[in-house]
Amino acid sequence: MKSFNEIPHGASGLWINPYKKPSAQAEYKISDAQIKDAQDRLLRFAPYIAKKFSETAANGGLIESELKEISRMGEEIYRSRGEKSPGRLFLKADSHLPIAGSVKARGGIYEVLRHAEDLAVQNGLLSYGDDYSILAGEKFTKFFSDYTVQVGSTGNLGLSIGIMSAALGFKVIIHMSADAKQWKKDLLRSRGAEVIEYPSDYTQAVKNGRLNSQKDPNSYFVDDEKSVDLFLGYATAGKRLKAQLEKQNITVDRAHPLMVYIPAGVGGAPGGISYSLKRIYGDNVHCFFAEPAECPSVLLGIATQQHENADVREYGFSGKTKADGLACPRPSGLVTGIMTQQLSGIFTVTDSELSAYMKMLNGTEGIRVEPSACAGFAGCSLLSFENGREYCEKHGLDENALSNSVHIVWATGGSMVPPGEYE
Ligand SMILES: *Cc1c(COP(=O)(O)O)cnc(C)c1O
Repeated sequence: MKSFNEIPHGASGLWINPYKKPSAQAEYKISDAQIKDAQDRLLRFAPYIAKKFSETAANGGLIESELKEISRMGEEIYRSRGEKSPGRLFLKADSHLPIAGSVKARGGIYEVLRHAEDLAVQNGLLSYGDDYSILAGEKFTKFFSDYTVQVGSTGNLGLSIGIMSAALGFKVIIHMSADAKQWKKDLLRSRGAEVIEYPSDYTQAVKNGRLNSQKDPNSYFVDDEKSVDLFLGYATAGKRLKAQLEKQNITVDRAHPLMVYIPAGVGGAPGGISYSLKRIYGDNVHCFFAEPAECPSVLLGIATQQHENADVREYGFSGKTKADGLACPRPSGLVTGIMTQQLSGIFTVTDSELSAYMKMLNGTEGIRVEPSACAGFAGCSLLSFENGREYCEKHGLDENALSNSVHIVWATGGSMVPPGEYE
């Protein structure tokens, strides 16, 4: 057994990243041009998305969620602790993203679209200047039916990839880990996807999916542990958030810092989102991840610099959590590498805290999200931790700056959870 004592076992904690560098000195492993290319690709596909998924039509085929101030929730959290709220609290409601009802509607759908575009362009069926709504036609669905898309998933990635791939006409095979909920498997099968179930954990489901896909030259594997495209899909969020903040007249600068708290599984979603925010706001944004207390894989990957080789179970954590979307015993090495110099820190949160936040969010704001999506509320405990207060001191987050601060809890999933399951 390897040992790691910087966070508690079985209780919540905060780890501050000692490798973080000031923005001007940090290394940027993904270029702005790559992120721009992803943004442009989503714009090309917007007419297709609007046509195929009517719930996105009002937003012109962009898959985007609301940024909502949740002051009642903020008051409740801080009142229960006898503290004053430091700044304003917002929810980024990716829990209610159209099509897939989770943050995976950013990365997962993006990668499927990219693959579809590559195939269609390479085969002379599509050019970049076309109106992509033609992709809804039979010529394309028939063409894509010769190809397979596969992915390993704890649930939500499978949903986003499965729904979008099936809509385009691809054959779909989803490799589900034991953590995946039955309703997610049922929903995927109802869309025509083949679901293969494993009695084992996420790392194993991904491994089998990868091997299965390699046997078929017409099969494409979305590799959650390695994919740059997934990361880029998530990274399109930064510019979208900036526009939403501006629309609500929210300034972000040295005197008005932005704090963002995002749940992490393998790290792709929170990594891509945070990275793009760092590119935009530099030192004025502080990005924290949140992980289950028993499954802090990204934390261990960065803290030990063992990246994808860090397995929570080798450090005495069970890897078990009600937060199925975060139940990844090993992180993405791609992401831990990219984020090592960017990330502020990682909160760990217990299952019972997740349940309490779920209840509180529904009670105060009437918003229903899944357990994983509540992990970001751990960020509201920043000042409860001694190392959190030290972090603030070191980064110029004094009382003045904090009173002007904006805190965004990124709610990453939940709108598709059936009501019975939610209860
Ligand atoms: C997948 C997922 C995350 C984390 O994304 P990773 O890319 O695995 O880090 C967070 N919340 C929910 C609800 C998810 O489905």
